Amino acid sequence: MTFDAPITIALSKGRIFKDSLPLLAQAGIEPADDPETSRKLILGTNHPRVKLVLIRATDVPTYVQWGAADLGVSGKDVLMEHGGEGLYEPLDLRIARCRMMVAGLPGADLTRPRLRIATKYLNTARLFFAGRGQQVDVIKLYGSMELAPLVGLSDLIVDLVESGNTLKANGLVPLEQMYDISSRLVVNKASWKMKYGAIMPLVEALREAVGG
Ligand code: ATP
Ligand code: MG
Repeated sequence: MTFDAPITIALSKGRIFKDSLPLLAQAGIEPADDPETSRKLILGTNHPRVKLVLIRATDVPTYVQWGAADLGVSGKDVLMEHGGEGLYEPLDLRIARCRMMVAGLPGADLTRPRLRIATKYLNTARLFFAGRGQQVDVIKLYGSMELAPLVGLSDLIVDLVESGNTLKANGLVPLEQMYDISSRLVVNKASWKMKYGAIMPLVEALREAVGG
């Protein structure tokens, strides 16, 4: 691909970076460093106009919203929680797939008034239960959500589940599936207009890479 505008793509380390690599390679973009061994936060690529910035998964929509990155790869969970302001979401990359679920101790009552929900997805959890006319108390946690019902911090948790093994190992069960989650390509709305000639071919090459 030949284009003049400089393009910055925001990615998070770990599964999103690993799963994005083959797609980016098919679109002709290969990083110059391995983020698992390099401490660099900005990686050059084989493409003179394209660089990658490596940030926390939850920060990707923020960087793209403010135009610090033109594009980004972000989990749908993170996007829902962020709200998506200032972003287009042109493509489901179908990577880092899992489910967002309500989980708790077996037999937990989902209809009890003023349920307490522990989660890192405050907005998403509140909206989900509000959509069913249920007012809940949401408790913000940053990790190890499975512990909360075990020690009486919450009645339920809202968390991502892949195999269900972590729930099982802690005596919890999935109670209700909320959303199918996968990673999405997001694009800054102003970049989409200003750098259309660079972004459009990239989006189309990625679309091809994920299989239409
Ligand atoms: P950290 O784990 O370092 O606190 P994080 O949870 O934000 O950071 P990851 O665990 O790499 O980062 O998750 C990034 C994204 O990958 C999530 O936002 C979600 O979309 C997806 N994801 C998270 N957990 C799983 C999982 N178990 N299986 C598949 N995809 C997942
Ligand atoms: Mg994680």
